[in-house]
Amino acid sequence: MNDPKEKQCILIVDDQQANLLSYEALLEDFDAHLLMADSGHAALALMLKHDIAVVLMDVQMPDMDGFAVAGLMRKSRKTQSIPIIFVTALNTEASYVNRGYEVGAVDYLSKPIEPEILRRKVQVFLQLDAKNRQLRDSLAVIRQSLVEVQELRDRNDLLLRSVGEGILGLDVDGYVIFANPAAEAALGHAGVGVLKRHIDQLLLSGGEDFCWLQSPLYAYCSQGKSYHDRNHYHAQAAGRVFPLEITATPMMSGRGESARFSGVVLVFRDISDRREAEKQLLHMAQFDALTGLANRNLLSKTLVQSLLAAEASGHQLALLFLDIDRFKAVNDTFGHDQGDRLLQMIADRLRDCVRDTDFVARIGGDEFTILLEAGDARQASAIVAGKAIEAMSRPFYLGEHEVHAGASIGIVLYPERRTDAYDLLRCADMAMYRAKEMGRNNFQYFCVQIESEISETVKLEARLRRSMEQHELFLVYQPQYDLEHDKICGFEALLRWSPRDMAAVSPLRFIPLAEDTGMIVEIGDWVLREACRQMLRWQTQGLCSMAQTISVNLSVRQLKEPDFVERLAHILAQEGLPATCLELEITESMLVEDPEVAVRILRQIRDIGVRLSIDDFGTGYSSMAYLSQLPVQVLKIDRAFIADIESNDKDAAITRGLIALAHSLSLRVIAEGVETQGVFEFLRAQGCDVLQGYWFSHPLTPEAMLEFLRRNADRVH
Ligand code: C2E
Ligand code: MG
Ligand code: MG
Repeated sequence: MNDPKEKQCILIVDDQQANLLSYEALLEDFDAHLLMADSGHAALALMLKHDIAVVLMDVQMPDMDGFAVAGLMRKSRKTQSIPIIFVTALNTEASYVNRGYEVGAVDYLSKPIEPEILRRKVQVFLQLDAKNRQLRDSLAVIRQSLVEVQELRDRNDLLLRSVGEGILGLDVDGYVIFANPAAEAALGHAGVGVLKRHIDQLLLSGGEDFCWLQSPLYAYCSQGKSYHDRNHYHAQAAGRVFPLEITATPMMSGRGESARFSGVVLVFRDISDRREAEKQLLHMAQFDALTGLANRNLLSKTLVQSLLAAEASGHQLALLFLDIDRFKAVNDTFGHDQGDRLLQMIADRLRDCVRDTDFVARIGGDEFTILLEAGDARQASAIVAGKAIEAMSRPFYLGEHEVHAGASIGIVLYPERRTDAYDLLRCADMAMYRAKEMGRNNFQYFCVQIESEISETVKLEARLRRSMEQHELFLVYQPQYDLEHDKICGFEALLRWSPRDMAAVSPLRFIPLAEDTGMIVEIGDWVLREACRQMLRWQTQGLCSMAQTISVNLSVRQLKEPDFVERLAHILAQEGLPATCLELEITESMLVEDPEVAVRILRQIRDIGVRLSIDDFGTGYSSMAYLSQLPVQVLKIDRAFIADIESNDKDAAITRGLIALAHSLSLRVIAEGVETQGVFEFLRAQGCDVLQGYWFSHPLTPEAMLEFLRRNADRVH
C-alpha cells in the first residue's frame, strides 16, 4: 500500500536542458517531486523506480521520440497506466496527434507552452492520481478484511468441529438447528441425527423429563442471560444416560432496543468420568483403602450424627477402641505386605463380630473402633468386646506362618459419659491403654480414675522429655558375685531418674514410658556410653580387672533400630572399652515378639565380641528348645523365683531345674534378687554361678562403689 503522506512524482522528459529548467520553474510550487529525464531511456528508468503521477514528455527527442517511449511504457505493468502529456510543436498534423492517442497518450500541449494551461493540466492529473491512490488503498483494506473474515470463518468451523464439548443451536421453540460433530456423536445414534429434534427428547432434568419452556435454562436465556449447571442435567441417548455440565447462551437477533431472543447455543460436556472421580475421592476421604472399613473422618462424622440421634431417641452408645497387641512385631518380622494382609484379616474378623447396624472403622495403623447403639450399651459392648478378643486371639495364617495377635480394648459408654465425639474417642483410647496395662487381651471400661491417672502419665512424659538436658538421669551399679571363685565378676548398670522438683521415679514406671514414646533410643544410647565410660574409669584406676563385665539393660525398641549394631560398635570404639567387657541384657519378650529378627541381630552383637544375657528368665514364654539356638552366654533367673525359694517348694524346684537346664546348654547362671543368707546357701548348693542382690550389695552410685571396691579389693583380682 502507498504511504498516503508520500509525495506524488511528476516526471518531465525533454532533451533540451533549458526546457527542463523552465518546466521546473513553472511547476516548482506544486507539492510534488519533480523528476527530470533528458532522454527516453532515462525516463523509463525513473518510471520503473518511482510511482509517477503524470509524465510531461517532449515528442521530438533524438534517440527515442516520445511515442516510442509511450509504446514501451504500455508494455510494462508498472508503467502502462501512467498518464502522459505530450508536448508538441504548434499546428501539428492530426495524423501525428492520433499516433499519440494510439499509444495511449491522454493529452497534448503545444509549444510554446502556456504556463497556466500546463499547470492546470498537471493539476488535474495529480488530483486524478490522488483519487487513484485512495481507491487502491481502500481496495487493499477490503481485500485484507475479506481474507480475515474467511480465516475467522475457517477457524470457527474448526473449533466447532474439534472441541470436545457438544454444541447445539436451538431455536426459540427448542428444536435443534445446528449440532457440531461432538454433539452428534454424544446424542445421536445409528441413523437418527440430532438436527431438527426437540431438546426435550435429548435431556433429563433432575432425573425427570426435561421441559424446554418450563426450564430455568429457557427462563434465563429468554431474558438474555446465560445459564450454567453441572448438577441437574443428564443426556439420554441411545439407551445411555449420562451426567452433563451445560452452559446455555442466548442468541439474539438485532441490536439494542430491537434485539430479540432467537434461540440458544447449548454447550455441554459428558461429566461421567469426573463424577466417577469425585465419587472415588469421596470414598477415599471416608474409607480406608486397605481394609475397606470407614476411616477416622467417617468415624468422626458418624459419631457426631449418632450422638444427636441417641440424644433424640434415648438410646445408648458404646464406642470400642481396639489396639492390636502384636501387630508391630508382625509388621517388622514379616514385612509390610504381610502386615497389610494381617490387617485385612483382622478387619474381616471384626466385621463378623458385629451386626450390620454397628459401625466398624480403622482409624490408625493397628487401631480400630466399633460403634454400637443399644438399649443397654454396657451389656452389648461386653458381648462384642468378648467376641472381638476371642476373634483376635485365634491364630492368623500368613502363608506358612502362624501368627498370634490379640487385642486390647477400651470402651466408653454414652450417656454415662455425656460428651462430644472427640472426647468420646479420647476416653475410649485411654481405656484401651488401661487394658494394655492390665496385660493385654482384655477390655476395660472408661472411668474418671483412668483419666486422672493417664493425665499423670502425660505430665510425667513431658517431664521425662526434659530429663536428659536437665541431667536428671544417672546410673547406679550393682556388683555381681561369682560364687565359685569368691570374686566380683561384674556390675549391672541400672538407670535412675531424680527429677529436680519431684521424688525419684522408679525405672519400672519411667522406662515403659520412654519405650512407648521412643525416647528410650536416645536414653539407651546415653546409658551405654555412660556405663562403658565408668567401667573404663574403674579399670584405669585399677579398681577393676579386664575379666569383669559391665551389664547394660537393653530395650526392644533399641534392638529394633536398624543401625543398632553399628551404633553399639561406634560407642565402644569411641569410649575405648574392649567389647568383651560389655554384656547386654535382653528380655524374653524381645525374643518372643520377633524371634527371627532377634536372632539375626543377637548374632551380629555376639560377633563383635559383646556378651549377651537373658534377663528375667522364667517370666516370659520362650521355650527351652529355642534357648539353645540363641547366641547368648548368660541366663539370669528372675528374682520372683529367687525371693521365695526358702518357703516355696515350687519356686525352689523351678530354680533348680533352670540351673540344670542352663548348665546343660553351657550357659552361666545368674540369680538376681538374693536378699538372704538362706537363699545364698541354697543357690550355692545348686551350683549357681553368679548372684546379684541386696545380700551382696545394693545398687551403688559410682562414689559409693569406690568405697565398696576398696573394701573388697581381694575379691577384684
Ligand atoms: P532388672 O534388669 O531385672 O534389674 C534388676 C532389678 O532388681 C533392679 O531394679 C534392682 O535394683 C533390683 N534388685 C537387685 N537386687 C535386689 C534384691 O535383692 N531385692 C530386690 N527386691 N530387688 C533387687 P531397678 O533398678 O528398679 O530396675 C528395674 C528394671 O528396670 C530392671 O530390671 C530393668 O528391666 C529396667 N532397667 C533398669 N535400668 C535400665 C536401663 O538402663 N535400660 C533399660 N532398658 N531398662 C532398665
Ligand atoms: Mg537387668
Ligand atoms: Mg532382671
